[in-house]
Amino acid sequence: MRDNHNYDVIIIGGGISGTALLYTLAKYTNVHTVALFEKYNEIATVNSNAKSNSQTLHCGDIETNYTLEKAIKTNKTATMLENYGKLYGYQDKYMFKVPKMALGVGEEEVAYIQKRYEEFKKDFPYMKLYDKEALRELEPALLKGRDEDEELMAMGTDERYSAIDFGEMAKSFVRNAQKGNNNIDIHLNMEVETIEKIGSKYKLTVNSKPYFANYVVVDAGAHSLLLAHQMGHGEDYSCLPIGGSFYYSKVDILKSKVYTIQNPKLPFAAIHGDPDIVHDNTIRFGPTAIALPKLERYHHAHFIDFLESLSPCSEVVEVFYNLLADDDIREYTIKNLMYEIPGIRKQLFAKEVQKIVPSITEDDIEFAEGIGGLRPQVIDKKNKKLLLGEAKIDTGEGIVFNMTPSPGATSCLGNAYEDAQLICKYLNLEFKENQFQKELVQ
Ligand SMILES: Cc1cc2nc3c(=O)[nH]c(=O)nc-3n(C[C@H](O)[C@H](O)[C@H](O)COP(=O)(O)OP(=O)(O)OC[C@H]3O[C@@H](n4cnc5c(N)ncnc54)[C@H](O)[C@@H]3O)c2cc1C
Repeated sequence: MRDNHNYDVIIIGGGISGTALLYTLAKYTNVHTVALFEKYNEIATVNSNAKSNSQTLHCGDIETNYTLEKAIKTNKTATMLENYGKLYGYQDKYMFKVPKMALGVGEEEVAYIQKRYEEFKKDFPYMKLYDKEALRELEPALLKGRDEDEELMAMGTDERYSAIDFGEMAKSFVRNAQKGNNNIDIHLNMEVETIEKIGSKYKLTVNSKPYFANYVVVDAGAHSLLLAHQMGHGEDYSCLPIGGSFYYSKVDILKSKVYTIQNPKLPFAAIHGDPDIVHDNTIRFGPTAIALPKLERYHHAHFIDFLESLSPCSEVVEVFYNLLADDDIREYTIKNLMYEIPGIRKQLFAKEVQKIVPSITEDDIEFAEGIGGLRPQVIDKKNKKLLLGEAKIDTGEGIVFNMTPSPGATSCLGNAYEDAQLICKYLNLEFKENQFQKELVQ
């Protein structure tokens, strides 16, 4: 470890975003020294951990909240992570070909699936259309106890890697970046308290000690915007932390990831059933979506940090007002609140799950305690709207802040690619584009 605490690049945050950038810099640039600071004693204990998210590599083919355009874009970054996994032989270790499908129930949704299949088949040629009989074979639990007259159709595949342990992938990024490279320092248990610009450098204070960098990337999850605000950046953004919980079921086991059809008015993805890749013979249903006054779901978190990153003002109030003025969103918000309340939550959530597995009862599911995470959704105050995907603040002054709600884990290498380009341009370094394209893109 260096004595002089001076680095070309410092990355703040050891989740999948920060570690993917570390790997990209180590493998595809001639950057000399890089440090990664993580406040906990391990890599990926927060949102990137397998316990916290849905473990889905979002390719856009079953996510009915994505347009074709967004699906094509997401698929590109998903493919990068898939290619990375293949490069190191992580098939069936950290990434799995769990069959997956988007399920339409009832006449309207079935028509929607047929239309979407036609629209998507050119860009996603491996997708298949499953009628009721095919589904009876593939996933009997979808039909057991269902009214025989109810229409059912799905589009899906068993050909893609669809389930990823993002936490293990993050750890592998660190290992592979460090292989044969002595110029990378990983500082665990070290929380960056403040960042200051001093001349052309950045001074970070960690445990009352200074560290210096020519370029800083903040990949600190929900804390990214807080750190930006503390430096006077990103004042046009607020962070609305949305917690997501899951329910477990060990009965009527699904073999596939089953996604339901999105109500286009709702800001968060519809619930889905996913075989848990780190918990044998368990299906997870969820996630729920509930606004929480904290920046981390299950770690110690300060209310004051939440307030600072929300930075309430009339624009934020207007965004909330407009959201809650819509009947569907109001009903969705109340329902999701109730899915968290012990005593009533199981009975209510079982109704939600029955759309996928009709025979399931409240006795078959349990609230998954300690499982789930938090999505740092960004409010654009200028345009008075809730942004649904990721957001980046590129100051152009040698510091970047990334806010990474879903599908942030899937797009980690896509974001790392963008940030590595910014770093190389700013520090006048080389980016090995051909090698990156050959190994991760094609
Ligand atoms: C319920 C739920 C389901 C999801 N499902 C999916 C899914 O199926 N597929 C998908 O692609 N995405 C999914 N996501 C989103 C995905 O989990 C995140 O986008 C991704 O994990 C973000 O990674 P990250 O590295 O940016 O942040 P994190 O994993 O949150 O890591 C940030 C790190 O920064 C550290 N940190 C914070 N402040 C400091 C500081 N001051 N100093 C040092 N370290 C600091 C934290 O300790 C943490 O380790 C889901 C999210 C939730 C909540």
